[in-house]
Amino acid sequence: MDNDEYRNRGKEMVDYIAMYLRELRKRPVNPSVRPGYLRPLLPPGPSQQGEPWERIFEDVERLIMPGVVHWQSPHMHGYYPGLNSYPSLLGDMLATGMNGAGFTWASNPASTELEMVVTDWLATMLSLPDTFRHDHPGGCGGGVMQTTVSESNLLALLAARTRALVRLRGDARVDVGQDALLNARLVAYTSDQAHSSVLKASLVSLVRLRSLPTDLEFSLRGETLRRAVEEDQAQGLVPFFVCATLGSTGVCAFDNLSELGPVCRQEGLWLHVDAAYAGTAFLCPELRDPLHGIEIADSFVVNLGKWMMVNLDCAVFWVADKRSLQSTFGVEPHYLQHEHSGSVTDFMHWQIPLTVRFRSLKLWFVIRSFGLDGLQEHVRRVRASCDSRWHCLTWR
Ligand code: PLP
Repeated sequence: MDNDEYRNRGKEMVDYIAMYLRELRKRPVNPSVRPGYLRPLLPPGPSQQGEPWERIFEDVERLIMPGVVHWQSPHMHGYYPGLNSYPSLLGDMLATGMNGAGFTWASNPASTELEMVVTDWLATMLSLPDTFRHDHPGGCGGGVMQTTVSESNLLALLAARTRALVRLRGDARVDVGQDALLNARLVAYTSDQAHSSVLKASLVSLVRLRSLPTDLEFSLRGETLRRAVEEDQAQGLVPFFVCATLGSTGVCAFDNLSELGPVCRQEGLWLHVDAAYAGTAFLCPELRDPLHGIEIADSFVVNLGKWMMVNLDCAVFWVADKRSLQSTFGVEPHYLQHEHSGSVTDFMHWQIPLTVRFRSLKLWFVIRSFGLDGLQEHVRRVRASCDSRWHCLTWR
């Protein structure tokens, strides 16, 4: 396919997507296929010679669509709202077209700088503390865009572990064997309502995780955390991390941040807040009650692909102090050094992947197209349409 053909096919593809979205309500949400439906319909191996586009594209309706769950359908009430929007689609299209890898500032200055600006904007729009902003004077915080909340929960746990190990080591030099022994003494906490990704993060990092009981409102309370911390300290363990949930997966419950925060501060625990899907609600001032106490949090994450109409993948993860992230993920291969290394933000030091997609474009397009008013109206409309009860947001 050359540039001219791409222009034609691209226009056809946009028309196809527009038609797909417009006519979507006519398609059954759930496919009727059985497991293994696809393989017998495809050739046993890849074609030796390239195929004409018409043939490839025909197979989308013939082979792929019959096995698709139509998440954008107005009749889709499973899992959670996985919403999209036209400005977001356009932003993703442009990012894909440019296909740049913004791992350092130098490798894509616009990508790095726009990500810093829009994550700052969004922090303010959600009423997060100023310490989460890149431009906070004298601050060390900021936001970084990730694929998912699962990945961000792991980042938070790993950064918290680095901070705990540094404290435990004191002046001793880094010694991987010694760190493994210290790691075995660490203990993290979450509630019995937390998402399975918190458990996954603990499995990956070989960190002990306690799942604490919640109250009658499915909320994790300060006293429960305090008792667990005291029990573990008495056993010689080192409490270091709490993952609180604002909007739990099962019933959209909210852990009590204003009670958990003081315990975390007193005991030096990293407080991470998983607001994967309900976080978008904090765009509206009248829905911000669960945020009381957020000023003590060390990190916060929301997935904008769930409710804010920014298509997958798009989680925004903020930290109040980037240094724990950088000392966890910072590597300095000489081939990636640049003139401004050390004095600018290089997102490769904030995360596991090296490569950074230009995700901020779609978020920028969405914020500018809808404006804060439009996004607030969207949240209120979705809420009203699901029986005005918070837990209906899960739409199960
Ligand atoms: N945390 C909560 C509270 C969730 O509800 C979900 C998904 O529904 C996740 C984390 C996982 O999100 P992601 O798909 O972004 O990894």
